[in-house]
Amino acid sequence: MLLTIKTYHHPATDIGFLLHKHPDKVQSFSITGGKVHVFYPEANEDSCTVAMLMELNSIDLVRKLKVPGSSSLLKHYINDRPYVASSFTSHAIAKVFSSALNGKCANRQDLLETPMSFDVKISVLKVRGGLPLLEKIFQPLGYIVSAEQHPLDENFEEWGSSPYYTVLLQTKSTKYLKALLTHLYVLLPVFDNEKHYWIGKNEADKLLQRGEGWLAQHPEKEWITRRYLKNFSSLSKYALKKMLDDEYEVIEEDVVALIEPEKVEKKQNLHQQRLNAALEKLKESKAKSVLDLGCGEGKLLRMLLKESQFERILGMDVSFKSLQRAKEKLYMDNMAPRQKARINLIQGALTYYDERLKDYDAAAVIEVIEHLELDRIPAFEKVLFEVAKPQTVVLTTPNAEYNVNYNFLQKDSFRHSDHRFEWTRAEFQDWTKHVCETYGYSVNIFPIGEETERIGAPSQMAVFSISQ
Ligand code: SAH
Repeated sequence: MLLTIKTYHHPATDIGFLLHKHPDKVQSFSITGGKVHVFYPEANEDSCTVAMLMELNSIDLVRKLKVPGSSSLLKHYINDRPYVASSFTSHAIAKVFSSALNGKCANRQDLLETPMSFDVKISVLKVRGGLPLLEKIFQPLGYIVSAEQHPLDENFEEWGSSPYYTVLLQTKSTKYLKALLTHLYVLLPVFDNEKHYWIGKNEADKLLQRGEGWLAQHPEKEWITRRYLKNFSSLSKYALKKMLDDEYEVIEEDVVALIEPEKVEKKQNLHQQRLNAALEKLKESKAKSVLDLGCGEGKLLRMLLKESQFERILGMDVSFKSLQRAKEKLYMDNMAPRQKARINLIQGALTYYDERLKDYDAAAVIEVIEHLELDRIPAFEKVLFEVAKPQTVVLTTPNAEYNVNYNFLQKDSFRHSDHRFEWTRAEFQDWTKHVCETYGYSVNIFPIGEETERIGAPSQMAVFSISQ
């Protein structure tokens, strides 16, 4: 893989100071998976080109590196890694041009602030999306883009084109070398979409650091972020949230998984803990028929189906899309007839009188009430505790006090953008007390998730039963 950077700045050989690489020398460095050589094919006052040639040993990559990732490509001895710009290239840039990338130039500070114009040639970049995609990504950063697509095999024209391009980027206006290297560092692996190492929160922080000052304004910031972070939605959400300063929705479980990955690996994530706790209580209730109100994509429904105790299961949600997803995830179309006879999905709103909810032994309402407007809670109570009136109700909702532990949350904001309120433990307890007094139930409240002193657990669960 060959990357060249040419400048017409006068004197052009100044680029040697910035890169900390003498134009008369060829220098070689070891990097993960191989070697990188830096040399100057031309170096004079009018134009100077630096070349970075990366040599990777694809057998070593497979045998020694045990490159992670799902792509089978990286598990073959013959692969494209030595020839394409990838995360290895970013690694090489960071290694051989580290001071320039970090905006340092010990001997010639003045050059850091000197705009220069550059021609950058990347041989080759794997781009699924061709020139239009290249333009979408590089043009907003002030580059003129041209690209030559290579055939799959020059000897077999009929095989058609490959996804590999030689790409030329020219700076429209003048640019600093640091900005140029930063763009390459972030964007080359984004096109390639393979990473040669495991990625975690560090990688998201690295993106935020390298993207500072340009990524947040880029019209394709979401795509770039997702691809850079290999489509790990939790990492992307975290990065976008930080980058866009709270405009972005973050799902609490994702962030917990992100902040404390070790814990999540060992423990189930919070949502799974909620579902397990709810299932346990439903089983204890000896219910034979159960409602899952606000069933979403059917996570609890799937667990209920596995328990033969539950002979009749009804999932209800206001969102048609969620119900469709539930239907797919439960493989309802291919279900054995006996299983299918046990379950039904209906669309409905929990704040409207609904006869269909009558005659069930138990109901689960998992992380739903906080999606209702506070002034609709009385209507919801009536529907559940007066109309449906199951013997047992298992209901969970976030504990607002715990939010201080999520330092990504602004003060007084909710964990999810669709939440209309979040209750403290005292507020939840008051509401359950009111339900019991009004509708003749008794209640027990349980914490869900690890408890922290004074602020309690992340989630809270009430188990109501009709008083004898
Ligand atoms: N109980 C599920 C989903 C929780 S997300 C689980 O634990 O995985 C909240 C769900 O409540 C969403 O699917 C949303 O569509 C649903 N919801 C919100 N308001 C509703 C209403 N008024 N009636 C019924 N469902 C509602």
